Amino acid sequence: MARHDNFYLAEVVSAHRITPNMIRIRFGGPELAEFETSGYPDERLGVYFPNPGRPAPQRPTIENGAWTFDDPDDEPEGRSYTVRKYHRDRGELDIDFVVHEGGVASSWALEAEPGAIVGLSSADGWFTPPATTRNYVLAADATGLPGAGRILEELPSGVTATVITEIIDPADVQTISSSASVDYRWLPGSGMGHGPSHLEHAIRALPAPGSDTYYWVAAEAAATRSIRKYLRKELGLSAKDMCVIGYWRANKEDFLRRYEPVQASMLQRYGQLVDSGIEGQELIDAWDAELERAGF
Ligand SMILES: Cc1cc2nc3c(=O)[nH]c(=O)nc-3n(C[C@H](O)[C@H](O)[C@H](O)COP(=O)(O)OP(=O)(O)OC[C@H]3O[C@@H](n4cnc5c(N)ncnc54)[C@H](O)[C@@H]3O)c2cc1C
Repeated sequence: MARHDNFYLAEVVSAHRITPNMIRIRFGGPELAEFETSGYPDERLGVYFPNPGRPAPQRPTIENGAWTFDDPDDEPEGRSYTVRKYHRDRGELDIDFVVHEGGVASSWALEAEPGAIVGLSSADGWFTPPATTRNYVLAADATGLPGAGRILEELPSGVTATVITEIIDPADVQTISSSASVDYRWLPGSGMGHGPSHLEHAIRALPAPGSDTYYWVAAEAAATRSIRKYLRKELGLSAKDMCVIGYWRANKEDFLRRYEPVQASMLQRYGQLVDSGIEGQELIDAWDAELERAGF
């Protein structure tokens, strides 16, 4: 049974580099025995890091359905990550952290050793292809590679997948097993803060999609916005044929500097979108359009 507060203290079991720019961390500990997987292969959870000098992140309490922290000065920083693999039998899960300059999460992962403690939230995901899907296009940068990898491992035989992935270095290529027939296209040096992104160009170069094609795209927010417009407006695909999500923001500091003063009104607008009943990719699209209208 899931924990009532949806917050699991988890302990690092092991940490190692699987490629030069990706660290795989296995988490376990008694509370993870209660973790419930969402079942989505792109399942996302929040990882909450201890503040400097603290052994563990502060546990929240629930008030009116939302987390609150008794000590507001010790509220932990949280970031979104993908459950790369869930080991149900052992009550453990793996998360792959991209290594990059700066950042609470990346810095923590670089130093993580067995016994270190984080908080994990409950998980959710978006990968919901129509039952008729026979052809998958998975396009991601390295932050989306954990999700793409798990999707591929869970695809059945008899379907095809084209997987386009931006990685920092040619040595960041991963070997992923899949029952599907998979065409891998690696883009070393593209995007990831190391060069201009060629992800959209690579998607545009693919043959026109059939009615049985599903797109799953996870990368930097400017790239996914542009790719979403191509899929929705130029190809005329509907929201049910895709999941296109921005996983991180280049120059996040500049974004936050401009966003924080208008955050309250933007969140009010987000609440209105939710109340209007739209959900899933429609909600993601509408929210991103709001952000763009507001100059973000
Ligand atoms: C649904 C979802 C699932 C995700 N799954 C994963 C995952 O499995 N593995 C993973 O590594 N990431 C994943 N991410 C992305 C991750 O949440 C962000 O990269 C996050 O910003 C990293 O936090 P940080 O504290 O390291 O850096 P921040 O404090 O957020 O940022 C610090 C600086 O680094 C820059 N930055 C942030 N991320 C990157 C990056 N990846 N490369 C280069 N520069 C960056 C920012 O622009 C900023 O300048 C996921 C995001 C979402 C929304």
